[in-house]
Amino acid sequence: MRDHLPVNGAGAVNLPDPQEREPGVLGVCASCRATLYSGNEVLCSPDGLYFCDARCLVDWMYEEGQLAKVQLWSDGNVIVRGV
Ligand SMILES: [Zn+2]
Repeated sequence: MRDHLPVNGAGAVNLPDPQEREPGVLGVCASCRATLYSGNEVLCSPDGLYFCDARCLVDWMYEEGQLAKVQLWSDGNVIVRGV
């Protein structure tokens, strides 16, 4: 039970409203489209995009062409593996 007056008047049973318990939806992850709720700890890009975590951010950067997976060789060659 929460400590506030019943909305429906004195004496009403103070049951929690199920919609009040539903955390506010504030957006979606720019990578996996997961719903982000009030209170979630997320990553935010300089552009204001939200990501669940570093994994989602990296996946998104791959898809946007901002990251590439490469293989380094001692002769100075770099072989691009991703993107
Ligand atoms: Zn995500």
